[in-house]
Amino acid sequence: MIPISKPKLSDLELKNITDAVKSGWVSSLGRYIDAFEHKFAEFCGTKYAISVCNGTVGLHLALKVLGIGDGDEVIVPDLTFVATANAVRMAQAKPVIVDVCRDSYCISPFAITKAITPKTRAIIPVHLYGHPANMPEIMEIAHTHGLHVIEDAAEAHGASIGGIRVGAFGDCGVFSFYGNKIITTGEGGMITTNDHALYERAKLLRDHAMSKSIRYWHTEVGYNYRMTNLQAAIGVAQLEQVDDFLMHRKNILDLYKDKLEGSGIECNPIVSAAPVVWMVCAIVDSLDRVRRDAVIGHMRASGVDTRPFFFPISMLPMYKPENNPIAYKLSESGINLPTFVGMTEDQVTKSCSALLAALEKVQG
Ligand SMILES: *Cc1c(COP(=O)(O)O)cnc(C)c1O
Repeated sequence: MIPISKPKLSDLELKNITDAVKSGWVSSLGRYIDAFEHKFAEFCGTKYAISVCNGTVGLHLALKVLGIGDGDEVIVPDLTFVATANAVRMAQAKPVIVDVCRDSYCISPFAITKAITPKTRAIIPVHLYGHPANMPEIMEIAHTHGLHVIEDAAEAHGASIGGIRVGAFGDCGVFSFYGNKIITTGEGGMITTNDHALYERAKLLRDHAMSKSIRYWHTEVGYNYRMTNLQAAIGVAQLEQVDDFLMHRKNILDLYKDKLEGSGIECNPIVSAAPVVWMVCAIVDSLDRVRRDAVIGHMRASGVDTRPFFFPISMLPMYKPENNPIAYKLSESGINLPTFVGMTEDQVTKSCSALLAALEKVQG
């Protein structure tokens, strides 16, 4: 079976984690934490980075640090992983779920403008599947209306627009290091920012809001959202290889595009930005959800693991339906194809053949 995703782990990760174990620093103090935060900020071109135990709590912490809570509205895209909207709920605020652009699959600046009310406090654009959202326009809207921007960059480490990397546009950016992300720490996350006050407050709330000067004096209810030195040891090793990872992923997409050319299948977009490849996307406009899922079934039977695009957030039972036709259509016609560092050309060829054969079966 060709997997949809698999982490690239080698002797470098093993060496660092062995070192961390031998040092005895296995919890949330240790030199790998500092090194990982420092190097990650450098990678994004931001002044600061704060490690956290996963991307979801990173989003929650970012919202809390920006003072967003009960009665506030936060605008999020309909096509994303559920964590984007759930984090808003976790902060007691209301996610306002809007449509995406057909070309980039990312949140539509026009839809954001239409959704702004006096209660709107923030926007969370998501750089979906590695493609940056339209940050110049989103930042302009945010500026005009006095809104905060939290970039959900969980799927887009290293993507940029005009030479500026994602995570450096908004008040802050949030990354994930889950096992299938561009770099991994097993579970893990990072908040990036250029704002010193935000950085200090995130560090405080990450660690139960314990006073810096009086130990075990807590001034408010905080969280334990710390990353461990063991996770960071893996992160440091991964970050050393990230440029190679990104190049390899781009090569895989180029191979897919080459082999699917002329088939009518749309692959990952490039809209006035320098995207990275988190997952290869294949969109077949003529599919509906039932036939798309049949394609996935046929591919699995021939030894190729894939995954469907996310369900629109507004279709999930804990949210309410929205009229976001672009997100709904993309959601039912999109398939993610195997994308991982170490994938061979033969495996790309096999995945493409399986896709084309499956499409033939369901389209008759
Ligand atoms: C993975 C992901 C997250 C959450 O990250 P975790 O580390 O799994 O909590 C948030 N948003 C998006 C868009 C993601 O893909």
